[in-house]
Amino acid sequence: MVDVASLPWADVDAAIAANAASALEFLGRLIKVKSTVGAEAPAQEVVAGELDRLGFEVTRLPIPEQTAERAPAGVAQASYAGRTNVWGRINPGRSPSLLLNGHVDVVPAEDDLWASDPFMPQLQDGWMTGRGAGDMKGGLAMGLLAISALRDAAGNRNGADLISGELGFLSVIEEECTGNGTLAAANAGALGDAVVLLEPTNQEVLLGGVGVLWLEIGLAGIPAHAEAADRAVNPIKSIPVILDALSRLETHMRDSVADPAFSGVQSPYNINVGTVRAGDWASSVPGRAAMRVRVGFPRAWTPAQALDQVTAAIEAAAAADPWLSGHPPTIREIGFRAEGFLLRPDHPLAEAIARAHEMAHGTPPPSGVLGATMDARYYLNQFGRPALAYGPTARNIHAADEAVEIASIVAGARTLARFIAGYFAAGGLPQLADGATVPPGERDWVADREAPV
Ligand SMILES: [Zn+2]
Repeated sequence: MVDVASLPWADVDAAIAANAASALEFLGRLIKVKSTVGAEAPAQEVVAGELDRLGFEVTRLPIPEQTAERAPAGVAQASYAGRTNVWGRINPGRSPSLLLNGHVDVVPAEDDLWASDPFMPQLQDGWMTGRGAGDMKGGLAMGLLAISALRDAAGNRNGADLISGELGFLSVIEEECTGNGTLAAANAGALGDAVVLLEPTNQEVLLGGVGVLWLEIGLAGIPAHAEAADRAVNPIKSIPVILDALSRLETHMRDSVADPAFSGVQSPYNINVGTVRAGDWASSVPGRAAMRVRVGFPRAWTPAQALDQVTAAIEAAAAADPWLSGHPPTIREIGFRAEGFLLRPDHPLAEAIARAHEMAHGTPPPSGVLGATMDARYYLNQFGRPALAYGPTARNIHAADEAVEIASIVAGARTLARFIAGYFAAGGLPQLADGATVPPGERDWVADREAPV
């Protein structure tokens, strides 16, 4: 086995420093492409071009429409025609394999709340600002910076190849709403023996996340001229009933559903009302209202069980309301049907990333879990591959003036380069006796959840 400490780290770090400007330039170009859902294709071309420049074999993977048919896939946001994943590979087919995963889709920006145009990157005080800078175009830049440095450092040493197996780089779409990009790619065989997601983790090791469901709750009213509002029914007035019901469910989940792995997260199961739509005229009583809601839920529940819980909570509240009891709210799934997930903290993948971080920065990184989801869930729950997230430091993700810290992209690349080279030098990860990626004792309910519903 190759002694990792003897690998040419001074050369690799020098190459990271030398290539950092080019990685930032790539990041700036990528932020300028407004890759909100449905409009990801031009951003994927930027990534494909960069992968090609760095010597990857690039494949565009279409997403079959049937990917979205049933949970744990999400409800598709638009047709997948013309919307592909991009998969780059070095040494395709060679063992062991390692996959890096990132997404190009970004959430919309409330433009007028920003200090500057969200899609015109600004570099100031060591941070790059722009929608997607943190979540997670900065991670894509970090991953490619590490790989370009490994290749350059190896080239300088006349072919001492630091990437000896298949190194995949998968750029997906719809991570922010369904996860169907990653699911389709994994179904098509774009996998690795281990997977690292380049999400913005502040250089911490992120091992797990909660379940997430997206729902639209519809409320009916009786439309009228405002003059007759006292005799009509305004559905906006029913919204507080729903807010109360959701708030009670949130409290119930937080206080009554024990999950020791998430005990350090103050409020793991947030229910967020992200949009409320009703009406089109100040002098009209609207005929309907619609609330779009993101429900975080415990790992022990399936998405179907979570839907049952939300439905029961809303039905109970509606039954006690004079109008809603006769005009029950409608509930439909509109995106995420994501299961919770967890990589066991003592898994060799978690240990290898922590070791690489310590080798690069002197101290081991914190590790933890998050009250949110990531595409890592598919690798762990459906494909039995160890997966975790490690990425740069970001602020204001999903909010105004989102930014990524440039120094953390460079620092993260130093960790990642050590992890990648160490992984291949060791011939992959040591195998656990039981091969399990989930914590001992959890296999049963994970298996239960995968039973057809
Ligand atoms: Zn993300």
